[in-house]
Amino acid sequence: AKNRVPLMAGNWKMNLNHQEAVVLVQKLAWTLSDKKHDFAKVEVVVVPPFTDIRSVQTVIDGDRLAIKYAAQDVSVHASGAYTGEISAGMLSKLGCSYVVVGHSERREFHAETDEVVNAKAKAALAAGMTPIVCVGEGLDVRKAGEQVPFTLAQVDGSLAGLSAEQVAGLVVAYEPVWAIGTGEVATPDDAQEVCAAIRVRIAEVHGEAAGDAVRVLYGGSVKASNIGGIMAKKDVDGALVGGASLQADEFGGICRFY
Ligand code: PEP
Repeated sequence: AKNRVPLMAGNWKMNLNHQEAVVLVQKLAWTLSDKKHDFAKVEVVVVPPFTDIRSVQTVIDGDRLAIKYAAQDVSVHASGAYTGEISAGMLSKLGCSYVVVGHSERREFHAETDEVVNAKAKAALAAGMTPIVCVGEGLDVRKAGEQVPFTLAQVDGSLAGLSAEQVAGLVVAYEPVWAIGTGEVATPDDAQEVCAAIRVRIAEVHGEAAGDAVRVLYGGSVKASNIGGIMAKKDVDGALVGGASLQADEFGGICRFY
């Protein structure tokens, strides 16, 4: 994918107890060091639940590992009377490099609109973190053949008002909802179709340089056995991985696709 460094992000969702979370990041570090993973070739990010971030940070910092970590969500607010919310400032102080915003599970179960996702992306950027902005169509839209216009509308809404430099530096994750957690992975051509359309749209709206630089990931039932075909596509710059990221060997295999 041109000069863009591929990125593999493992979203643990609301899984694992605390000890399992610590063991998972340790095992991932072991498997990647055992296989002599080149972090300059593929960036590796883990996305634990909020409550495990500090312990993951301790493991990673303690051994100066090149693995990065992220949060699964962030508040649109900077601080104040928002019980239960976690601000971008809090996450950046914990050393998070990235924040996932607008995951389909947030959009579906928490009614997050593009407007909310946009505000979360802006909050992450203002705190010096990189948003991973999730978009993607459901099964009905796919069956109607409307996946490209549907997804591009989400991209437009979620990135509205950002500068060209901000868009160039962020990450968009194309995750067709019908492929998430279902075992039904999109074909490499399906992934390429929408990832390419996202890049073209970003180039049109935010300029050629932003379109060239923005990293577009695919997500949905990615495994070590299917990542190769997906990464062979020129507009796919990595993957957002759910289920398979809970196993160190499997996620390690995804990171070591090259
Ligand atoms: C996800 O939720 O971002 C995801 C891609 O999940 P899975 O890999 O389990 O389909």
